[in-house]
Amino acid sequence: MQTHISTEQRQELRPDIETNMETMAALLAMERLAAQGVAAVPNLLAHVAGDQPVLVHAAMRLLFALLPTATLPTRWSAGEAAIVPPDISRENIQPLVQPLPAWIRDNPFNLDEHAGLCRLCAEQLHGLPAAASRTRFVQRLALFAGAKHELSAWFVSQGLASEAEELNRAAAALAAQQYPQQISFSPSMRCQLHCSYCIAGADNPTSAEQEADEKQLVALLTWMEKYRLTRLGLTGGEPTLYSRFPQLISRLHKAGLEYYAASNGLVEEPALAAILANPPLCITLHLTPEVLYAPSAYQRFTATARRLRQAGIYAILRCNFLSPADDALAYLHSAQACGLHELRIAIPMPNSQRGNSFVDIDQLAAFAPLLHRLVQEAEKQGMQVQLSKPFPICCMPEQVAWHFLKNGSLACVCPSYLLGFSNNLVVYPDLHFSACLGLNRRSRQPITTCAGPGAAAQVFAPDIASRMRSPIMTQCNTCPLGVRGQCVGACLSYRPAAACAPFSHAHKQD
Ligand code: SF4
Ligand code: SF4
Repeated sequence: MQTHISTEQRQELRPDIETNMETMAALLAMERLAAQGVAAVPNLLAHVAGDQPVLVHAAMRLLFALLPTATLPTRWSAGEAAIVPPDISRENIQPLVQPLPAWIRDNPFNLDEHAGLCRLCAEQLHGLPAAASRTRFVQRLALFAGAKHELSAWFVSQGLASEAEELNRAAAALAAQQYPQQISFSPSMRCQLHCSYCIAGADNPTSAEQEADEKQLVALLTWMEKYRLTRLGLTGGEPTLYSRFPQLISRLHKAGLEYYAASNGLVEEPALAAILANPPLCITLHLTPEVLYAPSAYQRFTATARRLRQAGIYAILRCNFLSPADDALAYLHSAQACGLHELRIAIPMPNSQRGNSFVDIDQLAAFAPLLHRLVQEAEKQGMQVQLSKPFPICCMPEQVAWHFLKNGSLACVCPSYLLGFSNNLVVYPDLHFSACLGLNRRSRQPITTCAGPGAAAQVFAPDIASRMRSPIMTQCNTCPLGVRGQCVGACLSYRPAAACAPFSHAHKQD
């Protein structure tokens, strides 16, 4: 579970509880100005330098939308973007799917290593007399993950060395909070459902795979302790079907491990009681068509969701749209009926074996009307829609892109490149592992034989690095977001595997 804005930053940016008329007027004026485009940037930056949290928060969100190249983190290593053009493999590259929209193509803040933004920020700094307000402003600028190196270099060139240091410190602290080291574990690959798009189970519907036994579980937890990993994601299959699920949760609790979980919501009472007794950081409830359109299963799903919410557990509704004709609003309304304020969505992508149903890249643009309808309705209802998997920004209507840029979900999709490619490792019941759920070819060896997650990830690093540099469309080569490694377009599993990929392991799913 990764967040674009950390809890601490959210606290700092949290709106005042009492918003007076003057503040309301300023908020409205800001929204109107931002609707006119990038001309609003200087005014919004002045608010970011201010001391009213509600205005700072609103201004930052609007800036996220107006300045995508400053907002989205790059997948290239530090300094690489400036000197190495993307190494483009033309194999499997798609012809044009959707022309690059003008708001991305012609944004003047994309130019000259964000010189315009750097200049405006330096001006704001020079105008702030108190050291505390200068520090606060610089710490807020750390949220511009895509421009932090350029801002820091600019500050140094302007005689603002201590501000540059503060920015670097704040950016490092933020990254550590946003992307803690974690492991996903599938204790069982079993599931009650049969979703054709499932990236985890569709290759193996009979699910003959044994669940993890006691020895394997102990080995994994001991390995995590040895490498000081304190966060575990539980996934599957349906993780609550693991026969020792309650014991697993209580063991995590005793070991002081944080966990989060993904479930289809059809949770049996002992498993639910275990979750309620030792709550996760977050639980993602996947609502599938097989449940949504089956009254008794749906009733069970909503009952689970309500009990989690009543217990104050942070729960999110998650769904996949396999067709542009899917009834997206039905999922939004289900989230509301369950008391959930956040809906996470994805368009199904292939797994490594391409054994599941997925949407071809040239069909992604057809989902624009669905996304537009969904985001429009969500905004009316005060709900957040977040993207769970990458989707080409150029295939979204501008209002949709703004929604995702403002809520940060475009910044956290496909985190495989983080922490030396170790941030998204998935461990299966047999303790063999894969790079992530999509790139689900398994390692030859159990993770417990590796000297930590970084060493484990090296098995996949060349393959992921090569896929990241394979654009999905020809226009990615000239798109400001593509060139800077800030838009992955679609899941890496669409790309061809690198010739060097060391996956000769003859696992039954291969
Ligand atoms: S390749 Fe990226 S988007 Fe695809 S499953 Fe892995 S982390 Fe997610
Ligand atoms: S990088 Fe490619 S997919 Fe992303 S916005 Fe640019 S052209 Fe579209």
